[in-house]
Amino acid sequence: MCDCLFCKIAAGEIPSRKLYEDDELLAFYDIAPKAPVHFLVIPKKHISSLMEMTAEDSGLLGRLVFRAQELAREQGCGERGARFVFNCKADGGQTVPHVHLHVLGGRVLDWPPG
Ligand code: AMP
Ligand code: ZN
Repeated sequence: MCDCLFCKIAAGEIPSRKLYEDDELLAFYDIAPKAPVHFLVIPKKHISSLMEMTAEDSGLLGRLVFRAQELAREQGCGERGARFVFNCKADGGQTVPHVHLHVLGGRVLDWPPG
């Protein structure tokens, strides 16, 4: 039994507001949105961080990125854009150790982040 929050969300054991699902990917709205559009895209396969991916994960994560930008455009970000963020490990501010791509949009986002 995997003791990982996002594995449990992927398995439907913990509810989420789903945006998209197929056999290998899930997108759901962030529980604490930081922008008018803020959702997460995860692989159903447990990979603890982008920085722990293997070469074999390249296709899966490439499809994840492709799906993320499709969903961002469907969410109305096609014209003005959005931000796509993988936080990694401690210095990157990662709090959930299952790789996830944040998609944030609907407002102008500051740079650099804090
Ligand atoms: P990170 O800090 O990059 O690891 O991002 C983790 C994100 O997961 C944060 O933005 C949280 O708000 C979000 N989060 C945590 N628990 C849940 C949940 N149960 N459903 C949806 N989003 C969540
Ligand atoms: Zn997991």
